[in-house]
Amino acid sequence: MARRAKIYEGKAKILYEGPEPGTIVQYFKDDATAFNAEKKDVVEGKGVLNNRLSEYFMSGLNNIGIPTHFIKRLNMREQLVRSCEIIPLEVVVRNYAAGSISKRLGIAEGAQLPRPIVEYYFKDDNLGDPLISEEHIAAFNWASSQEMEDIVGLALRVNDFLSGVMFGVGIKLVDFKIEFGRYFENEYQNLLIADEISPDSCRLWDIKSGKKLDKDVFRRDLGSLTDAYTEVADRLGLLPKSSSQTKPTLVR
Ligand code: C5P
Repeated sequence: MARRAKIYEGKAKILYEGPEPGTIVQYFKDDATAFNAEKKDVVEGKGVLNNRLSEYFMSGLNNIGIPTHFIKRLNMREQLVRSCEIIPLEVVVRNYAAGSISKRLGIAEGAQLPRPIVEYYFKDDNLGDPLISEEHIAAFNWASSQEMEDIVGLALRVNDFLSGVMFGVGIKLVDFKIEFGRYFENEYQNLLIADEISPDSCRLWDIKSGKKLDKDVFRRDLGSLTDAYTEVADRLGLLPKSSSQTKPTLVR
């Protein structure tokens, strides 16, 4: 049996060498971690759901001209993505206060922010992904000033797109995290959205009840994470109509 080369294994995903140069196979694991992996569990079906949800969001972004690494889904747990050089930033966009901004600035969870706020964190697990400013990014040359301009513009467009999609199914996009990568097309260097967009990296609250449908369910022991992610996929029309079963099955 042919064995493929593993490039990297992270907390929730594994990257393998792709079938052609410039491609990577991204495998979604069922592992759930929180608080920089201090809390860990295996959540059956999470990888399948996140593979499909990330495909849905990333292909939607590709369709409106926001480049992402997503090429195509290969199977239940794997997708083919474009390889890129990851910029070592976690870019967070917030519409409502929750999580670390509530703690840091003493803002009540759920309070609407005066406008979307874009924050940067240095991507380093050993340091616990510290909050940084554009000054640090410029001084340490993690991204150029042109790239930072593009990153803010793209992050806000992703926010508009995701907020609209989620609003359409009765869900409030509280905040999310995205990552950017560099890739070359002919002689030009471009940016794309890499990694994943899923309920692991967003805060999603039901508009009516405020029920949490994201990784906070795991972080705060609020019930079944699979049920929450299944509900998001179901509302977006990604599961069969009779989807009362507990295990997710994909239709497209
Ligand atoms: O914890 P905090 O409030 O800063 O998280 C903001 C958003 O970024 C949340 O949606 C969270 O799920 C996401 N995030 C992430 N990966 C991290 C840190 C935060 O996806 N390492």
